[in-house]
This record gives sequence, structure tokens and C-alpha cells, in this order.
Amino acid sequence: MRILLIGQPGAGKGTQAVLLAAQLSIRHISAGDLFREHIDQGTELGRNAHTHMRAGLLVPDEVTIAVMKERLARPDTEHGFLLDGFPRSLAQAQALDGILADAESRLDAVLDLEIPEADVVRRIAGRWLCRRSREHIFHVDYSPPEVAGVCDVCGGELYQRDDDRETTVRRRLEVYRSETAPVVDHYQAAGLVTTVSALGQVQEVLDRALAAIGRDEADASGASGS
Ligand code: ADP
Repeated sequence: MRILLIGQPGAGKGTQAVLLAAQLSIRHISAGDLFREHIDQGTELGRNAHTHMRAGLLVPDEVTIAVMKERLARPDTEHGFLLDGFPRSLAQAQALDGILADAESRLDAVLDLEIPEADVVRRIAGRWLCRRSREHIFHVDYSPPEVAGVCDVCGGELYQRDDDRETTVRRRLEVYRSETAPVVDHYQAAGLVTTVSALGQVQEVLDRALAAIGRDEADASGASGS
């Protein structure tokens, strides 16, 4: 399966992406994580990306498209993928359409995670991420770790992203409205979009997302062989 997960910052995309990809046995590819890897490795691309990310802006399309094109060419995506945070602009969506057409492949579904804006800042401001796994996400109120600052799953150090401050989050929301909302319209025209409410418990949102692609929990665990 080839799935896009779209949603405003704070909708819980990262959390759901990890769970969905595991349930469906497909590769989770996060544009933000790829940039953060570059930043941690101190590459030139990482330094360039960080300037934009810190300001709450999109990394320029040509850089993003090149990174994703390279990532999607790796063999581990052959049997499907779940894209998280790409495409985020119309130019990126058109580039992705071209990459898939060249590979004689196509998207199966686009899930649009929806959350009222009032909830976004509260969610993001309390978010702590695991530095070791990059995948485990906690929240001071909604899913606190057992020991403050330590990942329950792997013992990694928890940290807050430097683009998670309130003013930056507000800028990211503006960018979402102007740049990313047209991506939803683009795929809506192709009949691929299902809107999924991001409110409620993590498991409830996951169940809705699985239902939206015609997979209930039992199907999905069967497919992953567990
Ligand atoms: P969130 O979904 O909470 O905004 P991400 O980790 O997906 O978090 O993205 C963090 C930042 O990385 C974005 O605000 C942006 O600066 C950059 N980024 C991620 N994906 C893209 C993309 N497809 N195009 C441009 N910039 C991106």
C-alpha cells in the first residue's frame, strides 16, 4: 500500500504514522525525520534545512524533492510506504506524482488528519520526543513518560523540538493553510482523500484511520503476520 498522511502540525501525524506503518507492514518515511537526521549529522543540507525549520517555514521545494526522490528510490519502499510530511506544497505533490508515474506506481489513499486549531498549540507545546529512536513521542498531559525526560520504550533521552515554541507553531499553521491545504485539494480532485478526525485517544484515531483505508485492526494484524 502507498499512503499519504497529511495533517496540520500537532494533529498527531508522527504518532499515527509509526502505528499505521507497523500495522500495515509498510515503511514509514517522515520528511521531518530525514531533515532532523541531516541536522544531527551536521551536513550542509541539514544546516540549510534547520534555518527554515527553526523559523517555522518549509524547507525549499527543490531540496525537499531531491531528498524524497532519493529516499523513495531505495528498495525498502518497493512493497509500499506511508509518507508523513511529504508532499507539503503543490510543487512537491506534482513532483511525487511524477516519481510514482515513472515507477508505474500510484497512491492508494490520502488520509487527512483533522484537528481544531485551538487544540494544536496545547498539543505541540507539551510534546517530548525520544532522541534515540526518533519515533517514540510523549506528552506531559496526555501520555507522560513514567520517568520525566526518559523514554519508556527504549530509555532514550527525551527532548523538545526547537520549532515547537508557540510563535513558531503559529507560523507553521499559517504555512499549512497557504502551502499544504492546496495539496489536500489536489488529491481530493483525484478522489483519494479521506478525512479522519484526530481528536480522542491515540487508539481511537488509529482505528478510524485503519477503517478509512478499509482495514480493521484484525485484518491489519493478520497482514503483518502477528
Ligand atoms: P510537523 O508535522 O509537526 O510540522 P515535521 O517533523 O513533519 O513536523 O516537520 C517539521 C519541519 O520540517 C516543518 O515545519 C518544515 O520546516 C520541515 N519540513 C518537513 N517536511 C517538509 C516538506 N515536505 N517540505 C518542506 N519542509 C518540510
